[in-house]
Amino acid sequence: MDEQKRAQLKHKFEMARQKERVDRQIEQAVEERGIVILLTGNGKGKTTSAFGMIMRCLGYGYGVGLVQFIKGEQQSGEEIFIREHYPQMPFCQMGTGFTWNTQDRAGDIAAAEKTWTFAANLLRDERLHLVVLDELTYMLGFKYLDEQTVLDTIRNRPPEQTVVVTGRGGGTAIRELADTVAEINNAKHAFAAGIKARRGIDF
Ligand code: ATP
Ligand code: MG
Repeated sequence: MDEQKRAQLKHKFEMARQKERVDRQIEQAVEERGIVILLTGNGKGKTTSAFGMIMRCLGYGYGVGLVQFIKGEQQSGEEIFIREHYPQMPFCQMGTGFTWNTQDRAGDIAAAEKTWTFAANLLRDERLHLVVLDELTYMLGFKYLDEQTVLDTIRNRPPEQTVVVTGRGGGTAIRELADTVAEINNAKHAFAAGIKARRGIDF
């Protein structure tokens, strides 16, 4: 048998085994319900991944709700897009900017609580297939919101609803509640090499 044929046979054997493994996993995944997804870690891609799921849902005509904690001070491409093309989407931004810029704990807490009231309503709305709570972890990390209230509200959401939480840190309780936790690692970031954040790429 020549080298090429041997490689071909080996590939076929490995792929058959792989298919068996995948088929078995697919067979075992029978439960149907909305989940909690936590996108965390220091690397780039948490918020953009959440927006990828928003796009998927919109593709199927599903209802989507969006809350951005922190954000809103600086405009972003995703905000422009949603306001223009999906003005009916329930969408709320805390609008204060980063905590290290505001340097106003009481003001931030009041803004966080107001934004949370909006989020809690979305978490009760059965028409929403997906609720994105962008940068929520910081509200927990800084204790701007009561952790137990936040977790209970997420836990008691409609069973078909999926919640995506993004942000670094946020403590262990939200990690435990989440069904999927993706930790995005910062192997490299252009910013560290002195490259400016880019429109359409970073915001
Ligand atoms: P993105 O919005 O690009 O998906 P993210 O949500 O993962 O990023 P955040 O911590 O919310 O990350 O930061 C938002 C902004 O900070 C984005 O402009 C992003 O490119 C940038 N950023 C993300 N990770 C890093 C990093 N490790 N170093 C410097 N800047 C970063
Ligand atoms: Mg983000």
